[in-house]
Amino acid sequence: MAIITEKDLQPTYDVIVVGSGAGGGQSAYTLTMNGVKVLMLEAGRNYDPVTETPMFQSKADAPLRAMSTKEKPFGFHDATVDGGWEVPGEPYTQASTDPKQRFDWWRARMLGGRTNHWGRISLRNGAYDFKPYSRDGLGFDWPISYEDVAPYYDKVEMLVGVYGSNEGLENTPDSPNGTLLPPPKARAGELYVKKHIAKFGMPVIPIHRAVLSTRQDHVNFPARLHPNNPKAQKIIAKAMQERAACFWATDCGRGCSIKANYQSTTVHLPPALATGNLDILCNAHAREVTVGADGKANGVIYIDKVTGQERAVKGRAVILAASSGETARILLNSKSNRFPNGLGNSSGLVGKYIMDTVGAGLGGSVPAFENLPVHNEEGAGTHVYIPWWLYKDASKLGFARGYHIEFGTGRRMPVAPDAACRASAPAAPAPATARAIRKKSARSMAQASASLAAAR
Ligand SMILES: Cc1cc2nc3c(=O)[nH]c(=O)nc-3n(C[C@H](O)[C@H](O)[C@H](O)COP(=O)(O)OP(=O)(O)OC[C@H]3O[C@@H](n4cnc5c(N)ncnc54)[C@H](O)[C@@H]3O)c2cc1C
Ligand code: SF4
Repeated sequence: MAIITEKDLQPTYDVIVVGSGAGGGQSAYTLTMNGVKVLMLEAGRNYDPVTETPMFQSKADAPLRAMSTKEKPFGFHDATVDGGWEVPGEPYTQASTDPKQRFDWWRARMLGGRTNHWGRISLRNGAYDFKPYSRDGLGFDWPISYEDVAPYYDKVEMLVGVYGSNEGLENTPDSPNGTLLPPPKARAGELYVKKHIAKFGMPVIPIHRAVLSTRQDHVNFPARLHPNNPKAQKIIAKAMQERAACFWATDCGRGCSIKANYQSTTVHLPPALATGNLDILCNAHAREVTVGADGKANGVIYIDKVTGQERAVKGRAVILAASSGETARILLNSKSNRFPNGLGNSSGLVGKYIMDTVGAGLGGSVPAFENLPVHNEEGAGTHVYIPWWLYKDASKLGFARGYHIEFGTGRRMPVAPDAACRASAPAAPAPATARAIRKKSARSMAQASASLAAAR
């Protein structure tokens, strides 16, 4: 099994996975390692970061010195080769013409989805984040707790490789010993922040990021990931050895041809393909999940984007991992006599209460850094951050939940955080409960990124 064309499709599969990003990649990996025959349908084109990542091109090599454009909002070298805020051929409408009510949804259309250019910041939700209603009476408690999810966090951290440290903070969970890779050292600007922020009682600690600061433990991790499964252990041990450690000098947002950071395309899909249990069909845009007489999903109708033809494939189960927006759309499109409002939508709530990460950026020049001697300040993006520290003061804050603060410092020209501002556009109007949920999610997901650019 491999990356296939339509003529190689099998009559039926155990499972059809729609989407190849974080959700689809992990699903396909887990299933195929356990012997399940999987077809992955991906709307975007095939993409190989090992051969396609321009890691060493300078901005001068690119048009407009790699400035962001409508087609490449994150700059010319951004790993998103197809897709963005606007996707050709996929109309996107706003519920309101009021600019303050806009909601823009970043849609990568390529193998690996958003994992090719994401920030690699890999934080665990804390115990309080699973039970917010119990603490402040807003939103809902999750039906699962941190303890239920923790063993899976452990496995994913081992598999993808996450650097960071255990700080013993109450709602910023530690990982089991030996799971995290060592964090990179804080740089001058980050040490400066740490020194001056201590008086406010805010913790400045190493962030957790899916970047290999050292090679992975290919001797011990495979057995912890796949106990009693020698074939899977062998495959993942080999895949881990094919990944190099970061050399701290290039832009993770372009992708990583040495596989040092996590992308579904370099970490999940190669070992899943090596099992022989995965077929990947690219340029296959899923439109609808089909349902059998028993009311259970039994296949997917998709559009071949090259020919424009509609096709159907069969599977015993279907996993929709097409990102939250697109997954909801496919469910709503999957109407039948039995499910007139779409699949899984007896509540009428599918497509409502979707939450995006919201963020805001702030840049400035720090006089104390003027005349700082030139030194090596390279690294892998963010090294330290401030986790949400006021989680016990909910009643005094005047807003629900919280945020964390990321820092980026260095001797460079100040930049305007254009893309970050766009990403923080508020969502469409919503009833009071939805607003509460959005704030609930904001506690763990919102990123207020402060970028302190030390420039002369
Ligand atoms: C700029 C940016 C930075 C980010 N940084 C971070 C970060 O630092 N930390 C963090 O935790 N999160 C971050 N995120 C969020 C993170 O990338 C996403 O939450 C995550 O990738 C979502 O995974 P997913 O599988 O749901 O969707 P995706 O990774 O988007 O994958 C969905 C896939 O489905 C495909 N697809 C869509 N529709 C169809 C269809 N109809 N048929 C077939 N295939 C389809 C798409 O082409 C895509 O490949 C960031 C996101 C962005 C945009
Ligand atoms: S900084 Fe490290 S992980 Fe990121 S692209 Fe460069 S080598 Fe890869």
